[in-house]
Amino acid sequence: MKVLCFGSLNIDYVYRVDHVVRLGETEKSEEVSVNCGGKGLNQSVALARAGMTVSHAGMVGKDGQGLLDKCAENGIGTQYLRMIEGRCGHTIIQVDGEGNNSILLYGGANQCMTRAFIDEVLEGFEKGDVILLQNEINLLHAIIDKAYDRGMQIFLNPSPYHEALEKCDLRKISCFLLNEIEGEQMTGETKPEKILEALHEKYPSAKIVLTLGKEGSLYLDDAGMVRQEAFRVKAVDTTAAGDTFTGYFLYSQAAGMTPKEGLELASKAAALTVTRDGAMDSIPTMEEVMQYPWEEDQV
Ligand code: ADP
Repeated sequence: MKVLCFGSLNIDYVYRVDHVVRLGETEKSEEVSVNCGGKGLNQSVALARAGMTVSHAGMVGKDGQGLLDKCAENGIGTQYLRMIEGRCGHTIIQVDGEGNNSILLYGGANQCMTRAFIDEVLEGFEKGDVILLQNEINLLHAIIDKAYDRGMQIFLNPSPYHEALEKCDLRKISCFLLNEIEGEQMTGETKPEKILEALHEKYPSAKIVLTLGKEGSLYLDDAGMVRQEAFRVKAVDTTAAGDTFTGYFLYSQAAGMTPKEGLELASKAAALTVTRDGAMDSIPTMEEVMQYPWEEDQV
């Protein structure tokens, strides 16, 4: 069984500022950090650090060598990555002293998928293989259709939620992984159990994983509901918690674990992520996750 993550790769430019720049204003920044990101790449990194053999499909611009290197460094297969003219998907993030931010997102190469590229990539996959998707690249509906035609199991993290999802035939999804906000956007419900029930009614053959931040996570399929508490940790930065959870949960299911075992493993990994500053770099390896209970100062 092969695993493919088909999704975004981003460069995040994070500028420290005294205050977020106002209309018409020029403000100086004396500190910038440049980080690799994108939900797609974060989830590939989580899968790879969990120990999964994974390839990433997507596009980078001419400024994307660092993203390709990052994939290779993490042992992610790069044969389905293309470098095209123009710029990578990127964000320009301003963060002030109180942690408030403003984010400018440029889709760049992440919005340059073509049907020919999708066909070329998915030629390499067959019945039983797994594809993991998010909602940060264009032609998501075409990728879902093609992957379904090839008999792949489709895991979808419908994040960020926006109108492109309405074009997708979500009856083709094998497993949804989403947080409460996306759950509400998809169903109009606010209570976790109601979100699960509404999704199950609409997509009865899909498995559903709903994450609830520090309140834990829930899983629903035909066999019933499974609950998992979050692991108690000192939260430093919750960025990439959801991406870590998604990667580790998919790993668990590919490895034949039960949903309960999968939720527990994914929750442990995501808890470790929130004890660390940063996004991609805070995603733990399986070896680190297995050292639970962790150092006392983390708990
Ligand atoms: P997202 O990052 O997509 O918004 P959540 O905030 O729901 O996703 O977090 C995903 C998972 O990460 C949760 O289900 C939980 O297991 C873990 N998690 C998130 N925040 C915390 C926290 N403060 N303490 C422990 N675990 C956390």
